[in-house]
Amino acid sequence: MAGMKMPAPDSGVIARRREIVDRLRAIVPGEGVIVDENELRAYECDGLTAYRQLPLVVVLPSTTEQVSRVLKTCKEMGVKVVPRGAGTSLSGGALPLEDGVLLGMGKFNRILEVDFDNRCAVVQPGVTNLGISNAVAHAGFYYAPDPSSQIACTIGGNVAENSGGVHCLKYGLTTNNVMGVEMVLMDGTILRLGGKHLDQGGYDLLGIITGSEGLLGVVTEVTVRLLKKPATARAVLLGFPTNEQGGDCVAAIIGAGIIPGGMEMMDKPAIHAAEAFVHAGYPLDVESLLIVELDGPAAEVDHLIGRVEAIAGQHGACYSRVSRSEEERLVVWAGRKAAFPAVGRISPDYYCMDGTIPRKALPLVLQRMQEMAERYSLRVANVFHAGDGNLHPLILYDANIPGELERAELFGADILKLCVEVGGVLTGEHGVGVEKRDLMTHQFTETDLEQQQRVKCAFDPDGLLNPGKVFPVLHRCAELGRMHISGGKLPFPDIPRF
Ligand SMILES: Cc1cc2nc3c(=O)[nH]c(=O)nc-3n(C[C@H](O)[C@H](O)[C@H](O)COP(=O)(O)OP(=O)(O)OC[C@H]3O[C@@H](n4cnc5c(N)ncnc54)[C@H](O)[C@@H]3O)c2cc1C
Repeated sequence: MAGMKMPAPDSGVIARRREIVDRLRAIVPGEGVIVDENELRAYECDGLTAYRQLPLVVVLPSTTEQVSRVLKTCKEMGVKVVPRGAGTSLSGGALPLEDGVLLGMGKFNRILEVDFDNRCAVVQPGVTNLGISNAVAHAGFYYAPDPSSQIACTIGGNVAENSGGVHCLKYGLTTNNVMGVEMVLMDGTILRLGGKHLDQGGYDLLGIITGSEGLLGVVTEVTVRLLKKPATARAVLLGFPTNEQGGDCVAAIIGAGIIPGGMEMMDKPAIHAAEAFVHAGYPLDVESLLIVELDGPAAEVDHLIGRVEAIAGQHGACYSRVSRSEEERLVVWAGRKAAFPAVGRISPDYYCMDGTIPRKALPLVLQRMQEMAERYSLRVANVFHAGDGNLHPLILYDANIPGELERAELFGADILKLCVEVGGVLTGEHGVGVEKRDLMTHQFTETDLEQQQRVKCAFDPDGLLNPGKVFPVLHRCAELGRMHISGGKLPFPDIPRF
């Protein structure tokens, strides 16, 4: 990806910057339009920090009406738009464009309504993921999908990336916990999909929007499902002499019909990094560590802990500890949730991958990854959502050593190709963005990709929303046979239409 290409900037748009800024200022007054180079710098990248680009201008609207007018104006002027939440994307989804507006949604930070009777909350997209759970914790409720970045990432970003987290194994990803959105299309149209009610008829457009990576519209309001906190939750730590045994145990637990609240795995480098950082009490003499959380009524949790320990014993577990208090459970998870920054302490840079495989392939993939690490002469630390088969290999490198970033990227691409080879997919929860864009052809045929682009064309026919992301080649909509009606006249009127 080091040679990654973005769409060529439109010099005509760049030359009209002043006029564009003036028109945007007429919509979003005061500090809501940023042009100063030093201030733009704060937006030059997201969590994929290897790639940086100053945007043409940053706009920070605070109402849906402003978003609608900004998009309509940009469409009229042929200006591209990149939506942004907190900028924690690890796939470069919020990477700005030199000739594009960066639309920051940070001012949409209010919880509009908490409706316990309908078990939902209506929130603005800039509210943080954790902010939702905090707002309803007093009544014993929470919002289930819990990305490790939940303290910072926004629900708008979560919808765009279909984000996941430790507890998604049992409670589902963002797509299973979002009930409705208000969104604005590139032509300024404001539309609502779903709501407080259960499924409606027609196509599942809400499902299409969730995970659409800012390519179809800008989300301005989200209705999320709230869940009651389980009566009891306990974490079981299980250590294994090999990664393969840990991987086999994951598949065996699920195969036995047990769906833990969360089931995470860490390999030796990740265990050591997290323990040195958080002192969670992890065993240091095991090769792989499973954290299995069981939740529900106390009697059920006790019963399941017994079954999980028995299965682990059959798969060679050499360490087992069950949390005895809520404090101890939280410390166990603190180590896991801080594993990425902990790895950041042992390497100048790391590259976080995100592929998903069938659970049964875990032992094979972990072994093949180790062989690749030797071939590329780079270390890799593994910490991942094992229950979902969602891998997060962290490739350790030093960007100051010429060629290491490129080697890390080639290694990462080989891991993702391996995921597809064993029947998995390129991304579990971080999205495609620019990071995996050029690998899409390994997972999808040209026909698949064209079909997906037809959906894009239905929402954004001029291709102005977040171009350069997700699709390796962005066809013009006309090439894909989009029907243009010009001057009220239909081309080829005698062709049957559906
Ligand atoms: C340390 C760390 C740990 C992480 N752990 C996890 C994890 O466990 N699980 C996980 O899933 N992810 C994880 N992530 C990735 C990231 O936090 C998620 O992808 C998150 O959902 C991004 O939210 P954001 O608000 O930062 O969005 P941004 O990074 O700002 O944007 C992400 C994408 O969403 C689009 N977007 C943002 N807001 C809107 C909107 N209102 N309307 C339309 N499109 C929009 C952008 O255009 C972009 O394509 C982690 C990241 C870091 C840095």
